[in-house]
Amino acid sequence: MSNLKTFFNDSVKKTDSEVSAIIRHEIERMSNGLELIPSENVVSLAVLNALGSVFTNKYSEGYPKKRYYGGNENVDEVEMLAIERAKKLFGVPHANVQCYSGSPANMAVYLATCKPGDVVMGQNLPDGGHLTHGWKVNFSGLFYKSVPYHVKADGYLDLEEIRKLAIENKPKLIWCGATAYTREFPFEEIGKIADEVGAYFAADIAHISGLVIGGAHKSPVPYAHIVTTTTHKTLRGPRGAMVMVTQRGLDKDPELADKLDKAVFPGLQGGPHDHQTAAIAVTLGEAMKPEFKEYAKQIVKNAKALAEELMQRDIKLVTNGTDNHMLLIDLTPYGKGKGVFVQEALDLAHITLNKNTIPADPSSPFYPSGVRLGTPAITTRGLMEKEMEHVAEWLARIIKEVASKYSLPEDKTKIKEYLDDFRSEIRNNVIIAQVKKEVMEFCKKFPLYTTLDY
Ligand SMILES: *Cc1c(COP(=O)(O)O)cnc(C)c1O
Repeated sequence: MSNLKTFFNDSVKKTDSEVSAIIRHEIERMSNGLELIPSENVVSLAVLNALGSVFTNKYSEGYPKKRYYGGNENVDEVEMLAIERAKKLFGVPHANVQCYSGSPANMAVYLATCKPGDVVMGQNLPDGGHLTHGWKVNFSGLFYKSVPYHVKADGYLDLEEIRKLAIENKPKLIWCGATAYTREFPFEEIGKIADEVGAYFAADIAHISGLVIGGAHKSPVPYAHIVTTTTHKTLRGPRGAMVMVTQRGLDKDPELADKLDKAVFPGLQGGPHDHQTAAIAVTLGEAMKPEFKEYAKQIVKNAKALAEELMQRDIKLVTNGTDNHMLLIDLTPYGKGKGVFVQEALDLAHITLNKNTIPADPSSPFYPSGVRLGTPAITTRGLMEKEMEHVAEWLARIIKEVASKYSLPEDKTKIKEYLDDFRSEIRNNVIIAQVKKEVMEFCKKFPLYTTLDY
């Protein structure tokens, strides 16, 4: 811990005591708690070092060997290295590593394949899909005609509906990928549907790309034309993203790689974040090591073990389990809209996760009836199957404590006041205080930065 503080903070501390203190508090928060948000992870010190490198000083609009500014020989080298590693790891003929984050990477896919007003299909947001797959308030729903598809009451994707909607609406682009889906994605089936209607098929593996590389989830590469991913989720790198074109994509449209590169720059972005590119190169290098495969497999083993332990404690899970790194707890046995109480009570106990809608949620996306959690970050910290028993025990204790006790008022104007009362009441809750004590003690055995190679 003390080394870690020095590593981050030395020069900040000398010049800015305020920011330095905030960084220190964040290191402490992360160290003393269990991170169960499935889209988060703990990167290695090597990734942090690359991210904090002098490459942040550089401008390099364009692509390797074709830049608008001088002095780019080292940027070229690091970007080409990141591209080569991405191509090798995912088995694709083309990769672009310049996207600022996952959402801009998906924007590039629209820009390369569609015209404004074209029909696009993706998983509905309240059914677990991402904002950028056609949600009404996102650019993707505002500029394109979005035809969302859904999950069935059992939580699994409804392939019959997807095929029917595709035939009826003839989309230009079909997405497969989600932010809240706990089962294997049917890439092969959706690829067939896309072929049937002549659509581009983009697989968004933002959440699962680490699992795909590690062999813990089927790869979309044989079935999709385009694959996008963030680099900061199970891939365990800096915030960032990549857009890749598969051989299948080039067979469908030989210009596709070029169209995507042009969509990223100059279509959407100016200068790439070269420090981020350097950190992505380091991340991909780490992902090539055999240990990463072990890591990816352990994420899934831990998630399955956690699912079993929770169900044994009568906690209901959407689809009754998981195939990947993620679990969705269905809190409707306690009533509707319970996610907010569980999230905030767990936060106090130093366990972070997020409230989330469940299939056919009886409440609203703002006050959903479930919570979403996952094992990527705790697996990085070194927790194994046997530790999932403790994690499940703490989760179950708090869920049982708050989910039946508190209910959102029907009258919407009273919600704020009710939540304020809830928040002050749980500060004095002895069960939450006890769990917090146990979690903090437990975390000492799994320091934030000992499990990684650095
Ligand atoms: C996280 C995520 C994104 C977007 O990533 P940001 O970096 O937050 O913009 C896109 N698609 C899916 C499926 C995601 O889970």
